[in-house]
Amino acid sequence: MDSSRQPVVFFGHGNPLNALENNGYTQAWRAIGERIGKPKAILAVSAHWYVPELAVTAQAHPPTIHDFGGFPRALYEVQYPAPGAHWLASRVQELLAPLPVRASEDWGLDHGTWAVLCHVYPGADVPIVQLSIDETQPPQFHYELGRRLGPLRDENVLVVASGNLIHNLHTYAWGRHPAEPFDWALRFEARVRELVMERHFEPLLDYEEMGRDAQLSVPTPDHYLPLLYALGASDEHDTISFPVEGIDGGSVSMLSLVWSPV
Ligand code: ZN
Repeated sequence: MDSSRQPVVFFGHGNPLNALENNGYTQAWRAIGERIGKPKAILAVSAHWYVPELAVTAQAHPPTIHDFGGFPRALYEVQYPAPGAHWLASRVQELLAPLPVRASEDWGLDHGTWAVLCHVYPGADVPIVQLSIDETQPPQFHYELGRRLGPLRDENVLVVASGNLIHNLHTYAWGRHPAEPFDWALRFEARVRELVMERHFEPLLDYEEMGRDAQLSVPTPDHYLPLLYALGASDEHDTISFPVEGIDGGSVSMLSLVWSPV
């Protein structure tokens, strides 16, 4: 792929255990990395850095954060030692100015980022900066930030958003047996796909008005909002593909979306 303009990717990351597994999702993630190739750096927006401020990771070596509980020890031992990128943290601050974006030394790469990227770029050799999601802001704000970060694509930076379009852990089947997707999950995912394909973003920004299917699919904003960054950074010249599909445990959408420049 021509490295002069990078795609934008939204990953449905799902269960952190995917980091340790070799399954259909992880194989598809690996294939995405092989198809895109290595960018100069990655800007990652993860559902798991959902805080009341805007910040970017500013360490030369961001730590691997194991931000979950109750998983097997092996998952806590995973390290993803991708380097940071001061220049990219500064560039993000510049693009988002005059909004204040704190240079953070107290976060790192959370599992929304590393549990996927350990498959996409297994060598951990692409520098990564994470941008927090400011939980005090409305959906339109997050979309607008994505738009302002779009120019990074022409600077050989891959914009990665990691969440889940549908993320209802109350109804998620934690057992080993595969669960059939809920009807409301299938309907909501199909509707989101349609709207994304049509670039009809207003309902996606006003998702709280989309009815019961949306309320069940997006019980809290954290895993949905990364999509809005990806929408903002995409443009009408991109071609859209859905290289990973599936609804895990009945109520977590693993859908990935890639907007590729023609
Ligand atoms: Zn998550």
